[in-house]
Parts: sequence; C-alpha cells; structure tokens
Amino acid sequence: MMAGETGSVLDGAAGLAAGLAGLRRQIHREPEIGLDLPRTQAKVLAALDGLPLQVTTGAALSSVTAVLRGGRPGPAVLLRGDMDALPVTERSGLDYASAIPGAMHACGHDLHTAMLAGAARLLAARREQLPGSVIFMFQPGEEGYAGARLMIGEGLLDAAGERPVAAYALHVASAQFGRGVFATRPGSMMAAADILEVTVRGHGGHAAQPHLAADPIPAACEMVTALQTLVTRRFNVFDPIVITVGSFHAGTADNIIPDEARFLATVRSFSAAARDRVRAASQRLIREIAAAHGLEAVAEYRDEYPVTVNDDTEAAFAADAARDLFGADRVAAQPNPLPGAEDFSFVLEEVPGAFLMLGTCPEGTDPATAPFNHAADAVFDDALLPDGAALLAELALRRLTAA
Ligand SMILES: [Zn+2]
Ligand SMILES: [Zn+2]
Repeated sequence: MMAGETGSVLDGAAGLAAGLAGLRRQIHREPEIGLDLPRTQAKVLAALDGLPLQVTTGAALSSVTAVLRGGRPGPAVLLRGDMDALPVTERSGLDYASAIPGAMHACGHDLHTAMLAGAARLLAARREQLPGSVIFMFQPGEEGYAGARLMIGEGLLDAAGERPVAAYALHVASAQFGRGVFATRPGSMMAAADILEVTVRGHGGHAAQPHLAADPIPAACEMVTALQTLVTRRFNVFDPIVITVGSFHAGTADNIIPDEARFLATVRSFSAAARDRVRAASQRLIREIAAAHGLEAVAEYRDEYPVTVNDDTEAAFAADAARDLFGADRVAAQPNPLPGAEDFSFVLEEVPGAFLMLGTCPEGTDPATAPFNHAADAVFDDALLPDGAALLAELALRRLTAA
C-alpha cells in the first residue's frame, strides 16, 4: 500500500485497492476462529506499520487498538472492524480460498479488517487537518465470543483519553443486499440473540405403566408449543420476538420413560423492552407447565448479544455521507431490522453510532439467490474494499469536523 495524499477519500481509496485486496486475501487464506487470532493480528500490525498511530494489543484476546491523534484539537470517534472466521470448511472454489480445513472467513470479516486498515491509512494521510482522534478497533471473537465486550473491558473506549462521541461499523453481505449498496436504518438494526436452556426433570420407569413414573417428555413437548403461543399472544406484532427450539433430546428407547428431557432455543428480540419481557415470561411459562404436571423444570435464560441499536441521528448522518460519496442509488433505507445479532451492540450501548450493511456479492450474481453469509460457498467481492475504507474514513472525518 502507498500513503494516499490528501485529495478526496475516494481517490485515496482507489489508490489503495491492490494493497487492500492483497491484505484481505492473505487473511482469507489463513482464517482464525475465536478470541486468539495471532496470525491475523500480525498481519494487521504489519499493515499499520509506519503509520502515525498509538497501537496497543489486547491481553485476554488478540485485539489491536490503534489511535490516530489529529493535528488539531477535537473529540474522538471509533471505527470498528472484526477479524474472526467461522468453523466452516470453505467450498468457494476461489484461488485464495482458506488453506485451513474447518475454518473460513464465511462472514466477510476479512474484508472488514482490510477496510479498517485502509481507513487508517486514508485518515493518517490527513492527520494534520484532522480535528480530534480516531480509535481503530480491530476485534477478534465477534462470532459468539463477545470480543467487543472484552475489548470494552480492557479500556477500548478510553483509548483516546476521552470517550468517543460516535462509533461506526460496516458489515459486508454476500447475498440479500444489492452489490455496492449501503443500507442502514434508525433504531433497532439487528436482533438480540439469547439462549433458553431447559431441563425437565421427572423420574423414569416402564413405558407401559406411565402412572408409576413421572414422564418429562409430554410436558417438554407442551413447553415447545406453548413457547410459540407465547410469541403470538403476548408480544406486539410490531415489536416481535422469535423463539426457535433447535435442539431437543430425551430418552433412549420406545419402552423406557427417561428421567429428564432437555431442549435449547434461540430467542431473538428487537427491543430491550421485549427482551426483558421474554426473559421473564419464557422462564415462568416453563416452570409453571412443569408444575402443572407435577414435574420440575430448570429454565436457564442466557443473555448473549443485546439488540444492535443505531442512534437515529448517527444513522441518518452515515446514510448522508454514503449518498454524498457514492450517489443516492447506492444507499438504501433498510425497512426492517435483521434477525441476526452483532456484538458491536455492546459498543452501541455505550456510544451513539451506526451499523451499516454493504452488499458485496460478486458481479453478475443475483443477491436474492447468492449463497448467504456463513455458507461454505459464500463469496464476497473485494473490489468493494476501497469503497468500504472510504466510507469509514469519511464518517470519521465528517463527524470530527462537524463536532
Ligand atoms: Zn457472522
Ligand atoms: Zn459478521
């Protein structure tokens, strides 16, 4: 990569295209999962080497936090890129496909990492005029490890000496979103994703004489259907929840009543209020159905990722910046929140900001039918890396200048 000069961020980003694609493909070939991503971290540190940044690395996770201090006084903004891969064996057929069986950048976080490194380079080239600081958050462990929460715990939000006034993140999509289209919305952007783990305890016996045992299976089945009734009867259709029992286990043979039945559900909600209600209501429903049948049940509700909530003003600000850079036909108002979850939600609980999607399906593919993020054959086009880097840089520049 070459140091960009201070023209428009778009021109500067175009000059970084080859370097960013090279970095992305290096990361793509060597995907790492979870909180410990030493090779990815090394690639990021190499990509940032020589830039005027204060770089620190994480203790509990292989994060990289880099701070750019502008030449003029002003507040701080935070830009985030996640770096982790998924436990998927790649079937994309790309020449830079994962060299590691069982690991793949199937959610496009390799693109996020390269875009953020590009934004750091673009902003570093404008350091003298920059009124304030930029925190670059290179984050491991987005896919289920709450890496963002760990980075916050290690002082991320104080990295510039003061809390950032705004935070932005971009997520690529291999399907669903038109190629090159940025999408966001005010308010709830993505769901909260929690886990409901239920154990129904009875006592086993012979299946021919159920009255002498305490059969947990019919009660557990009743709980599964009652949870669906809870969804439709107790929650506003305009502030909905989703409960899906994805795992259900009991028993070993047709003629044995088992001691217990267990099931696991994912619980998605789109507001903090609905989340609080479903947490309480689902546990009570389980306990009381069990009691009605003379059984005991343990319903453990585990809070995983909160609702990703965009600040209304910041979402409009980010969409305006994207429109100015790329034109109105490349910016879409996202009609509904996405039912997936994001741990950038932990940052947005602390700092107002916006999360945006960017369609990156390859040219000539139909986003309606292209393989989705997390699929073994998902493909993300890295020709869009300069656009992502430019938007992140532009958001920081504008937000600091406007402050
Ligand atoms: Zn993902
Ligand atoms: Zn992701």
